[in-house]
Amino acid sequence: YEADVLNLRQHTNIKWKDIGGLEETKNSIKAAYGMALAQKPKGVQINSWRNILLFGPPGTGKTLLAAATAGSLEADFFNVKVSNLVSKYFGETSKLISALYSVAHQRSPSVIYMDEFESLTPPRDSGDSGAERRIVSTFLSELDGLATKEDESFILTMGATNFPWLLDSAMLSRFQRRIYVPLPDEAARKSILEIHLTRRGHKTTQDINEWVKATRGFAGREIEQLCQTAIASMTQRANPGLLDLVDQGRKALSKYEIKIEPLTEN
Ligand code: ATP
Repeated sequence: YEADVLNLRQHTNIKWKDIGGLEETKNSIKAAYGMALAQKPKGVQINSWRNILLFGPPGTGKTLLAAATAGSLEADFFNVKVSNLVSKYFGETSKLISALYSVAHQRSPSVIYMDEFESLTPPRDSGDSGAERRIVSTFLSELDGLATKEDESFILTMGATNFPWLLDSAMLSRFQRRIYVPLPDEAARKSILEIHLTRRGHKTTQDINEWVKATRGFAGREIEQLCQTAIASMTQRANPGLLDLVDQGRKALSKYEIKIEPLTEN
């Protein structure tokens, strides 16, 4: 399975500054892995925080955060979509998980990002097959093993889910650090807009504040799509106003039924 595992490896050049807003979230993550890396006083038993759970709405930057973590640790980044793993290797999934941890161990430091993490726990009414139980118990023992390993190798497991309430307590208890990744507030939306506009070679003007207001309730992914749509339509028209573009962007987005939900600003 080594070749399969190596295929999960992704090159990443995402930096913390490429992620708009989420300052608190970034600091929590840095503090969590900083704790895992810190020298422990001799004879003191502290369980390392090497398992971090990121949870929150879709498209809010969880993958970006994991990639930036890997980048800042100069670690190998294994990007695993759990549902793919389970459907592709069904019956063999637990072997693949063991292989994943063994390769990550050899290539330490490593960050293992597991998206759609709730897919690892089968729905309670699914009859709970032996194969599924094996997957979960293999994974739990890999996580437990990491916490007690005394050697120098460093593996950080970052689980991500939009549905944290589907995780069972055995799984949750392995994640001492559970970090919420919220929808962006005003300041965050401003910086996400700036990131995606400047990346595409566009300057922002004062009108950006109108965009910021107009995108209330958008996740980062939707803001990125908005920028793409707006810039694409800009190429077809001479010099339209930014608000015009927001309007067009919104129309384009509504085609894809992206909902705009009320958001409590904090
Ligand atoms: P899902 O829960 O659906 O897996 P996610 O939370 O992992 O989503 P990402 O894949 O990290 O979301 O983000 C999707 C895209 O949206 C990114 O590639 C990026 O372009 C944009 N994006 C999301 N959040 C941000 C942010 N805070 N700053 C800049 N770009 C962002």
